[in-house]
Amino acid sequence: MPQRTFSIVKPDAVRKGFTGAILAEIEKAGFQIVAIKKQSISKEQAKGFYAVHTGKPFFEPLCEFMSSGPLFLMVLEKDNAVADLRKLMGATNPANAEEGTIRKKFAGSIQENAIHGSDAEDTAAFEIGYWFAGHELI
Ligand code: ATP
Ligand code: MG
Repeated sequence: MPQRTFSIVKPDAVRKGFTGAILAEIEKAGFQIVAIKKQSISKEQAKGFYAVHTGKPFFEPLCEFMSSGPLFLMVLEKDNAVADLRKLMGATNPANAEEGTIRKKFAGSIQENAIHGSDAEDTAAFEIGYWFAGHELI
């Protein structure tokens, strides 16, 4: 059954001009782009989005980075979307990412790692609702 997940092309990848190539990988892997919007987010918005990481040593720099420039917020759909996107993304640290994954190809560091993907169906539902209104999800 089709499932929805939430994804971000992070500011590092947008700055480097990798957005189109990353979207091509996503579509080639069989995802439909249900919704997409480019915007800059505030540090406060980033903190709310990554609230699960509050207090971790990388939390403040992560929120600075995520608010450092425009990004693309996306809702993606396919069978098994959550797990399949995580597989397509590769490991958080690009040094550990498998060959052929988006992070292997496009990530610069463990922080500036090109793409976000929800890690479970319930977090996907929270994250979609955090960034998109119902009327934006066609
Ligand atoms: P994301 O949630 O962005 O899809 P992830 O699930 O692979 O990534 P998380 O553990 O949820 O990884 O961490 C969220 C983000 O925080 C990472 O994608 C990365 O940008 C940053 N991050 C995680 N661990 C570190 C670290 N040790 N040092 C620097 N940044 C980190
Ligand atoms: Mg995560």
